[in-house]
Amino acid sequence: LASRSTHNKEFDYIIAGAGCAGLSLAMHGLETGLFRNKRVLVVDRDAKKANDRTWCFWEKGEGLFEPIVHHRWKTLQFHSSALSRELAIDPYSYKMIRGADFYAYCLDRIRRQPNFTFYQDSVSHVFSTKEATGIVIGEKAILCDYVFNSIPPPPPPATDKTHWLLQHFMGWVIETPAPAFDPGAATLMDFRIAQDKGTAFCYVLPVSPTRALVEYTLFSQSLLEKEAYREGLKQYISHYIGLTDYAIAEEEFGIIPMTNHRFSPGHHRQVNLGTAGGQTKGSSGYTFQFIQKHSRSLVRDLAAGRRPALRSIPLRFRFYDSVLLRILRQETLPGHHIFSELFRRNRASLVLKFLDNETSPAEELRIISSLPTAPFLKAAIHQVF
Ligand SMILES: Cc1cc2nc3c(=O)[nH]c(=O)nc-3n(C[C@H](O)[C@H](O)[C@H](O)COP(=O)(O)OP(=O)(O)OC[C@H]3O[C@@H](n4cnc5c(N)ncnc54)[C@H](O)[C@@H]3O)c2cc1C
Repeated sequence: LASRSTHNKEFDYIIAGAGCAGLSLAMHGLETGLFRNKRVLVVDRDAKKANDRTWCFWEKGEGLFEPIVHHRWKTLQFHSSALSRELAIDPYSYKMIRGADFYAYCLDRIRRQPNFTFYQDSVSHVFSTKEATGIVIGEKAILCDYVFNSIPPPPPPATDKTHWLLQHFMGWVIETPAPAFDPGAATLMDFRIAQDKGTAFCYVLPVSPTRALVEYTLFSQSLLEKEAYREGLKQYISHYIGLTDYAIAEEEFGIIPMTNHRFSPGHHRQVNLGTAGGQTKGSSGYTFQFIQKHSRSLVRDLAAGRRPALRSIPLRFRFYDSVLLRILRQETLPGHHIFSELFRRNRASLVLKFLDNETSPAEELRIISSLPTAPFLKAAIHQVF
């Protein structure tokens, strides 16, 4: 394949995987005008019609996907056995986008572009050598100038310094016959539930007085039986929301890797995107906004005629993620205690800025000094040596 002539390129760009990262890149490329005159192939094995996930993220002002923001909140709440607090998130808003709306919005725009092609097919191989770059579908190699790949690689083996935890969760969209929610306020984390299966919390995202998404989330090394998540949701809804009369309109289940593994950014003319390209924040699982930042920077590079490179995450933020993952993996300090201290002793907007990897060293010092010194210092030393 690699020996094929580069003169046979059918496309300028191939986007392998039309999930959050692939479609975000396409939209940023179209928005700036850069992709308007390029032949772009987008491939996914799935039709991308199912509402298979709901993205939440915080943002200042308006973003590229504002028209499909399903709901936004200015007020967030935090609960644990030690702390109940309304979080001051200004200047951010917390926003929700439904997967099905995102796919429909992006694919509709792509299908209206005569220079874009969408294949629903399974990619068996993505490659880039000195001689050629492209993908393989079945027996056919399709060549291009650059391939942008978000097809997930297999998980790497865990080592002493590479932590691999799972963030696993089940969510229900519930509907009540009478008003039960305040759509102006969401619960970001509620740790008051049992912590015996790992760091566990629920969150509640009301989109109307009678409709909310409730999620039961764990950070741990292994998954539960599906019924255990349902039981967790049922108990939380009855004990903490105080509801017994409700209907389950939708159910979602998800797993996000929480790891400090260094995913390959790609090589030659292959650029890895999204979770496959290391855009998932190791210690929180949040990815959506990192994907948007990465897409903007790739498009800037392409427009400037540079090889699009991975937006490098400053080393110190990788280190903070590794230390927190070590603590969570070895359970040297309960997760609910760490988050309670973070939100008790810092302004919530500063914590969000920190989780975005955008704080200054002085701000980080303030945050770090608000956490229990001994376990963090011990984990930091182990992580280094
Ligand atoms: C249920 C769920 C909820 C989440 N919620 C949030 C959230 O609230 N906030 C947040 O910031 N992050 C969230 N995340 C994490 C992250 O934002 C998402 O996983 C996001 O979709 C990652 O984007 P991606 O493009 O890397 O992967 P995906 O969106 O999974 O895209 C990968 C694409 O590759 C395709 N594919 C795979 N193999 C092949 C193949 N061989 N050939 C062709 N196509 C293939 C898949 O069909 C898929 O469309 C969530 C994740 C999940 C699973």
